[in-house]
Amino acid sequence: MILCKSCRSEIESDSKVCKYCRSYQRWYRNPQFYSYLFVFPFIFFMFYQTAFFSKKEFIDFSDQFTMETINLVSIKNTSRYIINANVTNKTKYKWHAIHFEVIGRLDDKVIMIKSGEDYDWVIQPDSESMISIPFKNESGEDLEWEVNIKDLSHDRY
Ligand SMILES: [Zn+2]
Repeated sequence: MILCKSCRSEIESDSKVCKYCRSYQRWYRNPQFYSYLFVFPFIFFMFYQTAFFSKKEFIDFSDQFTMETINLVSIKNTSRYIINANVTNKTKYKWHAIHFEVIGRLDDKVIMIKSGEDYDWVIQPDSESMISIPFKNESGEDLEWEVNIKDLSHDRY
């Protein structure tokens, strides 16, 4: 004799179903379990679709992004500048937290490189977004400036 897992009544040890409360003594004996067999692959598919198993990396999509300088604003009587740039996202995903690099050149020679990030910056799928990057020209020279995206983050959910 064993005790029913549900009502604690004494039942035959080989009983599949309790004769008092009708509850199944083995979880896999319960016919309701078989309906879950169809639910598990569905849940897996849902997670798969939300890219749970394939986190997107910027490097795999970098050719679908462009970053173009709109203008360079110099702040009077300082060595400070602001680059206003336009970013185009041709992917069908939303990205955020931009890491960028500002490169200053003189006659094609790299004089200054400045890295930075903006965690609040967001770009929607298949759209454009602008960004203002403040930086300081420490070289004392009149340089040619260029901005590049180094990294972007993609939400998994
Ligand atoms: Zn029972």
